[in-house]
Amino acid sequence: MIIHPVTVQEFIPTNAYFYIDEDTRHGVLIDPGAEADRLLNVMKEQDFSLQAILLTHGHFDHIGAAEALRQKLHIPVFMHENGREYAQNPKWNLSAAFGEECILEDITCLKDGDMIEFPQAPGLHLKLIHTPGHTTDGCIYYDEARHVAFVGDTIFAGSFGRTDFYGGDEGVLFRSIRDKILTLPEETVLLSGHSEETTVGTEKNGPIWGHWAQGRLS
Ligand SMILES: [Zn+2]
Repeated sequence: MIIHPVTVQEFIPTNAYFYIDEDTRHGVLIDPGAEADRLLNVMKEQDFSLQAILLTHGHFDHIGAAEALRQKLHIPVFMHENGREYAQNPKWNLSAAFGEECILEDITCLKDGDMIEFPQAPGLHLKLIHTPGHTTDGCIYYDEARHVAFVGDTIFAGSFGRTDFYGGDEGVLFRSIRDKILTLPEETVLLSGHSEETTVGTEKNGPIWGHWAQGRLS
């Protein structure tokens, strides 16, 4: 598999990731937060074809280019089923706070445990794991065979997502991280929306989850 990150920005820099089957050059794009035209150029330059857009959650800085790319490429946009509200509500997806009105017209809702696979990209197997807390629809996309997870804003290198926006809840987030992410194999590489990459082992034994959060998790 090819992992090709592109940091896109309208208001906030966000990591978008192409996850592409090496043999067929088909795959998915995770969290196209802005700069649709630039992402289309990357596809052309790299000879990537997309089967779907995957969203880790419905904040505008992760979904901002999804509608334009869906219309242009005629591919589905996948998100957790709780994402409906964020997709259709500029207050919830925070675009209203920046004077924008970001709305996704057509999403395909998935549930915890759903597998994302395509005949055109035989090497690609991603499992949606629901990890609410930063938002109610927060999820990660996990490739168990390759020990990679795209984690959005649930967890960052040495940090975690804010919980003071619509649908955020610190206790829920900490339980998601403890029970759904830190239980993955330690070598699992975590690719987030806003930090450098890290691993489950590094975070599990690091200052936040190795020590600080213990007292807050009961
Ligand atoms: Zn977010």
